[in-house]
Amino acid sequence: VDRDPPFFKLLNALKDNARSSPKGASVVYWMRMEDLRISDNRALAQASALAQKDNVPLVVLFVLSPQDYIAHDRSARRIDFTLRNLHEIKSSLAEHHVPLCTTSHTPRISIPSHVLSLLKEWGATQLFANIEHEVDELRRDIKLCELAKKEGIDCSFVHDKCIVPPGDILTKEGKAYSVYSPFLRSWIKHLSLKKEDIHLTHAPTLADNAFSIRDHSTFGRLFEVPVPEEVEGFTLQPDEKERMRFCWPAGEDAARQILDRFVHTMARGSQLGAVNPLPENAKAPRNSAKDSRLGKYKAARDKVDADTTSRLSPYLAAGVISARQCIRATTEFSSGKIDVSSETGIGRWVQEIAWRDFYTHVLALFPRVSMGRPFQEKFANIKWEAETHKDHLQAWKDGRTGVPIVDAGMRQARAMGWMHNRLRMIVAMYLVKDLMIDWRLGEKYFMEILIDGDLASNNGGWQWSASTGVDPAPYFRIFNPYIQSQKADPTGDFIRHFVPELANVRGPEIHNPSPKLADKLGYPRPRVDHNEARQRAIRRYKSPGQE
Ligand code: FAD
Repeated sequence: VDRDPPFFKLLNALKDNARSSPKGASVVYWMRMEDLRISDNRALAQASALAQKDNVPLVVLFVLSPQDYIAHDRSARRIDFTLRNLHEIKSSLAEHHVPLCTTSHTPRISIPSHVLSLLKEWGATQLFANIEHEVDELRRDIKLCELAKKEGIDCSFVHDKCIVPPGDILTKEGKAYSVYSPFLRSWIKHLSLKKEDIHLTHAPTLADNAFSIRDHSTFGRLFEVPVPEEVEGFTLQPDEKERMRFCWPAGEDAARQILDRFVHTMARGSQLGAVNPLPENAKAPRNSAKDSRLGKYKAARDKVDADTTSRLSPYLAAGVISARQCIRATTEFSSGKIDVSSETGIGRWVQEIAWRDFYTHVLALFPRVSMGRPFQEKFANIKWEAETHKDHLQAWKDGRTGVPIVDAGMRQARAMGWMHNRLRMIVAMYLVKDLMIDWRLGEKYFMEILIDGDLASNNGGWQWSASTGVDPAPYFRIFNPYIQSQKADPTGDFIRHFVPELANVRGPEIHNPSPKLADKLGYPRPRVDHNEARQRAIRRYKSPGQE
């Protein structure tokens, strides 16, 4: 599949499909799970411009696909976040007299026919959508292109997720990058040449539907099609629903305010737990770029006992805000230029957005990584623990491994649907190298619980931690979770917040309580001895397939 990535097949299918169909009765923009916004949205802007030119209605379609959500281990939190954003989008679109029609379709194999029948019903000859990079989704879109071609309907799928589209930067040999540093150098060079990749919003995003279509017999009724409150099989308990709404409010305004808070204000005190960032925003004094969270990012980003990163990942993963909008927000401090220096807070943050691009390029161009294959095939036969597997995996999921920083991170994920990057690295490496449990099980659990689950970044992060991926942590460099804990949570506040059994422990013991203290507090003892586990991992990675 890597030799012939579906991504390139889609690009070819699109070339094949690109004709100029005669004007239809409407233009359709098919919104997907990764582009839940109106502003700075390429496919929507193009669809809107064409509808305006042709003076025909613009219709926005969203197809819920429960089978895909099961296949991709989507969390109920992510599905709920999708629906909440769709509600916001529906009312914003209606203000422009544009209907959002949400349908639900099973089986997923026939989604192309489902979409095609709607296009025919609405008399559309042009469909626009942003490209999704997962294999199943690419195959679905290739199928739709083929079917649409037979009906004389044009499909335009455009790049929108990344700052630099996959395939646009390649090595000198014309291959995809598998190491981040040269990728970053190419990424920077590309942006200095193609500034329009950042400055997209100068294009009109959404024009009003030229005339009122509410009375129209076909389109008028689409305004009445509701966005469902939930998708069967992905129901959240009421208290959890409430918590997710509090932590992660829906909508583009919320995303912009969170970005603004990160760029312009400083963390005050420790802001842990289920914190809704918005109320603070109104009160917080605005700092200079140097003193804001963004300005301090280089020094503070790896600390988990304070609220120092942007917390934008749920919004970026769902496309409620675009990566371009994030980068543009940083350029106001550097005379319009993009700062990518490793020495500044701004530069380091921009580099994180580049990591997001990198992993999406990897997914598009090495699709086997998303099909359960390690990027480094030499590690395909590592011997994973079978006997203790179920026990240890459950303890890890429950935040009861007996290693406080690991447990605090896992409990944060359960409480908030989000985890700090440093913690993701610590808990992932602990599962794979200390407990010797297959990284794919951790990858799956993250998708099931996180609100920001993104196949490319999640797979990239897991394969990095498991030393099996592109540009991974070398297999012999294994995190000592206790040392990591002292560095990431020097105050111990993070552990105390999320592990109430240890709430009253002061001093260094918070990172590694003695067996006596752990027993007294009803906190579990560690499942494995770190040094022994480390030796076992190195042995097994050195000779895959051996004990
Ligand atoms: P910030 O530090 O403010 O960074 C800004 C943005 O840059 C993030 O929102 C994200 O979009 C991007 N970014 C930052 N770090 C990375 C990274 N290492 N890789 C890719 N993109 C990055 N991120 C997800 O969005 N979804 C996932 O499912 C996901 N799973 C992960 C699993 C593992 C095992 C690891 C190690 C990392 C994973 N990440 C994932 C990457 C990273 O942990 C999160 O993006 C980050 O913690 C989100 O917090 P933030 O928005 O405050 O990030």
